[in-house]
Amino acid sequence: TEAAQTAHDARTPEEIAGARDLFSKFDGLIAERQALLDTGVRDPFAIVMDEVKSPTLAIIKGKETILLGTYNYMGMTFDADVVQAGKDALDAFGAGTTGSRVLNGTYQGHRDVEDALKDFFGTDHAMVFSTGYQANLGMISTLAGKGDYVVIDADSHASIYDGCFLGDAEVVRFRHNSVEDLDKRLGRLPKEAQKLVVLEGVYSMLGDIAPLPEMVAAVRKHPNCMILCDEAHGMGFFGEHGRGVFEEQGMEGEIDFIVGTFSKSVGTVGGFCVSNHPKFNVLRLVCRPYVFTASLPPSVVATAATSIRKLMHAQDKRAHLWENSRKLHGGLKALGFTLGSDTPQSAIIAVILTDQAQAVAMWQALLELGLYVNMARPPATPAGMFLLRCSLCAEHSAAQVDQILEMFEAAGKATGAIA
Ligand code: PMP
Repeated sequence: TEAAQTAHDARTPEEIAGARDLFSKFDGLIAERQALLDTGVRDPFAIVMDEVKSPTLAIIKGKETILLGTYNYMGMTFDADVVQAGKDALDAFGAGTTGSRVLNGTYQGHRDVEDALKDFFGTDHAMVFSTGYQANLGMISTLAGKGDYVVIDADSHASIYDGCFLGDAEVVRFRHNSVEDLDKRLGRLPKEAQKLVVLEGVYSMLGDIAPLPEMVAAVRKHPNCMILCDEAHGMGFFGEHGRGVFEEQGMEGEIDFIVGTFSKSVGTVGGFCVSNHPKFNVLRLVCRPYVFTASLPPSVVATAATSIRKLMHAQDKRAHLWENSRKLHGGLKALGFTLGSDTPQSAIIAVILTDQAQAVAMWQALLELGLYVNMARPPATPAGMFLLRCSLCAEHSAAQVDQILEMFEAAGKATGAIA
């Protein structure tokens, strides 16, 4: 075996790596990262939360830090009912299911959370995956097969791209949020072919939203199209019931499949798809990312179900989150920062910086002042942008948003990002 061989091998690990090096393709990235770290900055991708005090506060390297990069939009991670439901399920059902949903891994709690999703979205069917990433992998690769087409926005999330790679369908991209380009590309496809159009309510890098009514109208001009909308960043926050951007824009009944995650507004981990399609449940037998992986732990599905049911009635929190978004967007714009969208469109506000050095300097300056935001860089970002991505929480107080703006002003001036 390999282990036995290396035990007798006198060569160093470096010499062995040199002899058969599948890692050589990463040499450029390793060198670039090392050059950055050699300048003395903290590694933006190696932050450790030593203690988490609330949805908006953590201790990082001994310093109390405001969290502004967690996607914890509704602050449900510390909701007392949610936490209690998790504890009860842990006691009653144990730490994990050790099995696939289609074998020993469906407990009462998995049914409960699917019922909660059906009630939340008002749909006939709901299917829970172990992550949102897997929900996109599974739905896209299973729905669109050989001879079919998947039509996606160029700025789609990685899980949507990976769902396309996993499947056998032909992939067609259209310009980000361009109704005209979507229409044009659909027009070029064979009329008789089946097509899946994949949209996102909120695009997570720049925080802009999709013009769903216009997109849906463009799709309806072409035959044999179904629409899937990823509401990962819309659920909880948009629409009267918090269903997502599609609800806010009056598009209920127009979207065939809503995909989402438990890792943002819901406050735990997991993914799902809801739909009214009468044959939906056959997916439980044929969707590989659903079948060939273990189901979520009982504590997780219990927290998710409790959180989802509370989110149905969270209008006050939604209103406060909108206030926070407007206040932060307006304040950052007034300070002179370049933002990902002209107006506050979601709970994500992206600050666009000129290059990696400026982005990292600014990110570190904020961290030293006691503010954590996400650093986002290519390939995650569109058009090679370097972003500091802020995601607001309904639990951020108005005073915290003021404090955040003061920190941005100080860090921006210290690093030269603003005048
Ligand atoms: N879709 C979108 C648009 C996302 O932003 C994300 C996560 N950032 C996912 C899907 C995947 O969700 P999860 O974290 O549950 O895997």
